[in-house]
Amino acid sequence: MTSVYVASSRCECQASLTAELTEDRLPVTGSAFLLGKREVAPAHAIDPERETFDIGWLCPFCGRNVMRTFAASALPKKRAPKASPPSPGE
Ligand SMILES: [Zn+2]
Repeated sequence: MTSVYVASSRCECQASLTAELTEDRLPVTGSAFLLGKREVAPAHAIDPERETFDIGWLCPFCGRNVMRTFAASALPKKRAPKASPPSPGE
């Protein structure tokens, strides 16, 4: 599966959560970044066929199940390979 969108948010523990989504907004990979460490953060989508849907991450740093709501039309597109990775946070 090829990911085309990137959804990101921040956990209550300040970890940066990122998920790469397919065209159907299904997560392909999820990761969390905190204090220079990157860990796998399993991500899943709830009702990804809707315009407004939720993405949940299991944060590996604090164990929280983090749910965030995203608007499909506002999801940032993933950059082409070789571009610099998106900066965490806003
Ligand atoms: Zn966390």
